[in-house]
Amino acid sequence: MSFRNWEKNIRRVTPYVPGEQPHGGRLIKLNTNENPYPPSPGVREVLKAMDPDMLRKYPDPAASALVRALAGCYGLKLEQVFVGVGSDDVLGMAFLTFFNSDLPVLFPDVTYSFYPVWAELFGIPYETCPLDADLAIDPRDYDRANGGVVFPNPNAPTGCQLPLGQVEDILRHNQDVVVIVDEAYIDFGGQSARSLLDRYENLLVVQTFSKSRSMAGMRIGFALGSPELIKAMQDVKYSYNSYTMNLPSILAGEAAVKDEEYFRETVDKIIATRENAKKRLADLGFTFPDSQANFLFIRHREAGAKELYEALRAAQIYVRYFSGPRVKDYLRVTIGTDEEMEELYRFLGRYLSGRV
Ligand code: PMP
Repeated sequence: MSFRNWEKNIRRVTPYVPGEQPHGGRLIKLNTNENPYPPSPGVREVLKAMDPDMLRKYPDPAASALVRALAGCYGLKLEQVFVGVGSDDVLGMAFLTFFNSDLPVLFPDVTYSFYPVWAELFGIPYETCPLDADLAIDPRDYDRANGGVVFPNPNAPTGCQLPLGQVEDILRHNQDVVVIVDEAYIDFGGQSARSLLDRYENLLVVQTFSKSRSMAGMRIGFALGSPELIKAMQDVKYSYNSYTMNLPSILAGEAAVKDEEYFRETVDKIIATRENAKKRLADLGFTFPDSQANFLFIRHREAGAKELYEALRAAQIYVRYFSGPRVKDYLRVTIGTDEEMEELYRFLGRYLSGRV
């Protein structure tokens, strides 16, 4: 008997690699699409008022207060809302629940790099559909036999928005499988597929509090769909871990959803900074798809992406670099505050002019 016989029974997976979380004094963090503004003041109040004695008991497994707030916010029934520990938890649960066919699940070749990781983990067959030359999704690619469809809208890391009519084209051609639209970045200017929920009971819309609601550290995500889809996800969740959401998340999340005015104000500031960034970065010689998200996917006509990434990093400005075949010439830059962006333009201006 081999000494380490147990090794053969280990599930071997290649994990998703999250963006770096550097710590320390004066650094500019534009690498993981967080929101540069704090959450709603209501969130601060809820957290300040929390008595640790409340933590003695298990939280509500249905996270009803948060589900109620979300259903109210989006004009849906309680049975149409599922909440989880970040949209990664919700998406993972959705893969496990809905992608259970021998046919391949379809998603874009350039997209959120967690999709193939979940597919591998759960043994789900998948195929990727290449983005077109402008890095856009072509809905016709999804018009074939499959075991389900998932794509982010706007897509990541490109920022490209698929117009709602084309999202509906994909749904129209895929009524026998579940179609997941990952709307992590939808609040920054896109049109949500929420409006299609009435007509497509196989549509699952997934969103997060990590970006537009400034709460990445709280880990809250949610799915909106028909009562049948939501019930199926709950059954899987309760077969795995009943108490996914902790009490502070439920209460703070509820407070955030109720503060519509602050939400709009923050999102509008980021959109304004992004639109200005498009002009400033174009002036510096960058090109990029027309992002509707809180990041830009940029490449420079002369300087290589890896070189720029390293130069920025040495200057304590963190952006995201991916080494994959179609993305290695680009940097993904999260939209920060106006001041942070000014420092970015200043550095790039100096660096690029010193280079020629
Ligand atoms: N979907 C996409 C497209 C993302 O970029 C991210 C952020 N990494 C997520 C989902 C997950 O975000 P979270 O788990 O913080 O909600």
